[in-house]
Amino acid sequence: MSYQALARKWRPRSFDQLVGQAPVRRALINALETGRIHPAYLFTGTRGVGKTTLARLLAKCLNCEQGVSAQPCGECEACREIEEGRFIDLIEVDAASRTKVEDTRELLDNVQYAPVRGRYKVYLIDEVHMLSGHSFNALLKTLEEPPPHVQFLLATTDPQKIPPTILSRCVQFGLKRIPETAIAEHLADVLEREGLTSEPRALTLLATAADGSLRDALSLLDQAVAYGGASVAEADVREMLGTIPRDAVYGMLRGLAAQDGAALLAAVAGLAEAAADFGAVLAELLGVLHRLAVQQVVPESRVDDDPELLELAAALAPEDVQLFYQIALLGRRDLPYAGDPRSGFEMIVLRMLAFRPQSGGPPQAARAGTGAAEVEAPAATRAAPAAREEAAPPRSSAERVAEMFAAEKPPARASARVRTTAEPPVADAAAGEDALVEANDDTPQMPQPARVAAPVEAADVDDDWAARIARMRLSGMAGQLANHCMLDGVQGDQYRLSIARSSESLLNDMSRQRLIEAISALEGRPMRVEFRLVDEIGDTPAAQQQRAAAARQAAAEQAIEDDEAVRAIRERFAAQVVPGSVRPRHDIDHNH
Ligand SMILES: [Zn+2]
Repeated sequence: MSYQALARKWRPRSFDQLVGQAPVRRALINALETGRIHPAYLFTGTRGVGKTTLARLLAKCLNCEQGVSAQPCGECEACREIEEGRFIDLIEVDAASRTKVEDTRELLDNVQYAPVRGRYKVYLIDEVHMLSGHSFNALLKTLEEPPPHVQFLLATTDPQKIPPTILSRCVQFGLKRIPETAIAEHLADVLEREGLTSEPRALTLLATAADGSLRDALSLLDQAVAYGGASVAEADVREMLGTIPRDAVYGMLRGLAAQDGAALLAAVAGLAEAAADFGAVLAELLGVLHRLAVQQVVPESRVDDDPELLELAAALAPEDVQLFYQIALLGRRDLPYAGDPRSGFEMIVLRMLAFRPQSGGPPQAARAGTGAAEVEAPAATRAAPAAREEAAPPRSSAERVAEMFAAEKPPARASARVRTTAEPPVADAAAGEDALVEANDDTPQMPQPARVAAPVEAADVDDDWAARIARMRLSGMAGQLANHCMLDGVQGDQYRLSIARSSESLLNDMSRQRLIEAISALEGRPMRVEFRLVDEIGDTPAAQQQRAAAARQAAAEQAIEDDEAVRAIRERFAAQVVPGSVRPRHDIDHNH
């Protein structure tokens, strides 16, 4: 039995069998049924999306002996000959291999003659953008006054290269890349009709590798059948495509989620044993991280039904996923420079482990606890952040790493100070269980017993607040909100923050929620936050930062003003310093 390639064998024989391209299909069926057929159609789209398939289908519709219709019979001589590629009135030209003007002229000379057998003489010119300028001119002449029995079907992957004069005489159809799910479904359908079986995941892998091209998908399926026999198995397809076992990638991400360096390295060792290509592993890791991010941000998209992926999406913080993606992306660039691929890859995943943001919940607390074993139990969980109490918000990666190691040995002074903060309040505050309620305009004179009852002095709390904000590593709106607040006090599981009415716009559901989450993470337990709107606010961290920036700016301008060289230039050339062009050194460093 002679083997026929699946792509050829299962080429669509009717519009019903066409995969995807619904709008184009509808437009063509409509044109055929109403008899309003344009003399020239142009199909555009990347390779393998069905341009020539559609053109051949249209040729059958026009020449079927049963009459012009959207449902060619598929039985008559004309239909069969077109299917077998030997219909004399279907002239297929691959412009990529036929660009000389003589050839095209010869071709178009015959346009005037009536069709030999069919109703229409159909010219299918593939990769039409490859025609030479002269050939385009010859084509244009024909398109200007097309004989009634001639149908032009043009196809191209690059419509930009077709002259506008030609484009304006064609009805253009843009064919879309075929979605992975549609390709996978079609592959399953083909296998069923072939009497073969498959694992669903195997077909998804093939569909992904085909990258939107049905033709590529079918030819890959051909290879998979040749490779694995009667059943298309996931493992075989992975081996054939050189795809990395997803289990290994999941294993690494689980190791990262659990901060388990040993598990992480074990997963890498497993991959090395399987002689995996670490560049491909990194690509697969990026793919999984992308799906995780989509799943986390738009859960209803159901990007993947894989239960393991859903589990990871719940276990990893969204900002961790973003960070890992960034590290993997940079790692991909640098991997070729590593001594050997495996060590390069290990460094990349270890970097993910080391630079994981500190805002996470239980894992950090647990690690800090083991490092600070000599400290009393209640203080232990908070000892690590306390060690960085006076530190400015960290800027460089090196600082972040240094911090991580510093956190292992907290100085006793710092932990003692934190313990003071955590002491139960001396007096019970009036604020009850429902303290989360915000003060609004109706109650401007809200009493403040809390401030009196606060266990630490107000000035200390303010300093403390800026330091806490630094440790919470808030960004965006939540960071803005925190910086514009003053901490009035902490009592039990409640933070009391005040914010100026003029900054009220920063206080929305999302920023509030993120700040509450960050405070809870900082304290290592669920916290409540009361926001109080005030007309006048004290020296917020935002105000302090603004003042510091202004002072730096003034100092920088003064330094330029006092500079001997600048003064000399000004005097000699009657020059002046362009206002606003002076920037403090700190800002410049920051931007590089
Ligand atoms: Zn027919």
